[in-house]
Amino acid sequence: MPGISRPRGTDDLLPERLAAIEHAVTVGMALAAEYGYRRLETPIFESTDLFVRGVGDTTDVVNREMYTFADRGGRSLTLRPEGTASTVRAFWESELRQESLPVRLSYAGPMFRYDRPGRGRYRQFHQFGVEVLGEDEPELDAEVIAVAWRWLRQLGVRGTSLQLNSIGDAECRPRYRQALLDYFEPHLAQMDQLDQERLRRNPLRILDSKELDSASLLDAAPKTTDFLCDDCRSAFERVLTALEAYGIEYQLNPLLVRGLDYYARTTFEVWHEDLKGAQNSLFGGGRYDGLSQLLGYPACPGVGFAAGLERVVLLSPPLQAQPKPKVWVIAAQPMAAKVVIETAELLRRGGRRVVADPGRRSLKAKMRSAERAGADLVALVGEDELARGIVAVRRLCDGTQVESALDGIESTLASLLTVSQ
Ligand code: AMP
Repeated sequence: MPGISRPRGTDDLLPERLAAIEHAVTVGMALAAEYGYRRLETPIFESTDLFVRGVGDTTDVVNREMYTFADRGGRSLTLRPEGTASTVRAFWESELRQESLPVRLSYAGPMFRYDRPGRGRYRQFHQFGVEVLGEDEPELDAEVIAVAWRWLRQLGVRGTSLQLNSIGDAECRPRYRQALLDYFEPHLAQMDQLDQERLRRNPLRILDSKELDSASLLDAAPKTTDFLCDDCRSAFERVLTALEAYGIEYQLNPLLVRGLDYYARTTFEVWHEDLKGAQNSLFGGGRYDGLSQLLGYPACPGVGFAAGLERVVLLSPPLQAQPKPKVWVIAAQPMAAKVVIETAELLRRGGRRVVADPGRRSLKAKMRSAERAGADLVALVGEDELARGIVAVRRLCDGTQVESALDGIESTLASLLTVSQ
C-alpha cells in the first residue's frame, strides 16, 4: 500500500504484543520490588558524551550504532542505546546518592541502536533491567541474576541457560589482554579485517567475534578465568556459592565478555536454545565498578542486567486474550446519540466494557459491526424507545429482545448474559 512506512528496524506494538510486553514489565517490577528494587525513569535522550564515555568508544554500540543528533541549541544528544550509564548519572544527580547504600533500582523502556534488523533485533527495542549501586559484594551479582532468573520462570520462559564468567579487574585484566594479543598475533593475517581492528583497539572484544576464521581460533584461546588475581578469584567463588544458595544452575563460559567496555569481574548472559547466532542472548549483565568514575563521578561500584523485552516475549507462552467489550449501545436514529452516550457511560460506571455507536450510519451497518466484533448484547435506542424513555436490548445469539427502563438496564443485561452462557 503506498504511504509512509515505519522506519526500518522499528515495529508497531499491536495490542496483543504490547499487552505481553507490559505484562512482562509488570511481573518484573513486582518481582524486583520483592528484592527491594524501586523503579526509575531516565530521559530517552542524553548527552552524547554520557555514552561515549560510559559505553566506550571502542564498542560497536558507540562507533556504529548510536542515533546521535544536534538539537536546535547545537548540543550533541543521543537516543539512549542502553540504561546503565543513565541510571548511574541519575543516581549522582539526585538525592538517591544520599540514601544508604546499596541503592537498588529498576527500569524499563525503549532503547535505540542502529543495528542490522533481524528476528528479535530492532533499531528501537525495549529493555527491562535492574542496577545495584554503591556496594561491590559479590553476593549482589548473584542477587541480580536471581531476579532475572525468577522473572523468566514466572513468565514461563523455558529452554534457557545461564552463562557465567569473570573477566577480572584493572589489576589482572592487562595480563589477560596481553595473553590474548600474543595468542592471536601469529594468526593476524588470516583474520577478518574487523577482527584485526577489534584486536588492536580492544582485544577482549575478539571473544565476541562471529567471524568464522577467528571463531575457530577461539577454542584454544587463553581463558579469562586462568588469569584472575586472588581478589577476583575469591569474589567469583562467592558469586558461585551465592548462586547455589539461590538454587540457580549456571554454565561457566570463559569466552563470555560483554560488548560494553565498563564491565569488570562478573559477566553473564542468559541464552535461549531457540534464539540462534548473534541473537541468542535474552539478557546480559555484569559488574561495572569502573563506570561511575569514567563518567566523571566518584568511584561507585555497580552490578545489573538488562533484558530484551521483545525477545523475552517471543519466548513466553501467549497471554490469555484480553476480554473484549460484549455490549454495544447503538443509536437507531440520530436523535438518540445523547441517550446512547449516557447509557454507555452508565454501564461503564458499573464496570462493563461497552462500545458506543451513536453515529449516523445505518442501523444495518451498525448491527453488522457489532456482530463481527463478537458482541453478545446490543442495546438499541430508536425513535420509539426515545419517546418512551426506554432501551431495547437484543441478545445476538438467539435474537431474544426485551425492553428495559434506563435505570434497570444493568439487571436486564445481567439476566440476558446469564442465560446466554
Ligand atoms: P546489551 O545491552 O547489549 O547487553 O543487551 C541486553 C539485551 O538487550 C540483549 O540480551 C537483548 O535481549 C537485548 N537487545 C540488545 N540489542 C537489541 C536489539 N537491537 N534488538 C532487540 N533486542 C536487543
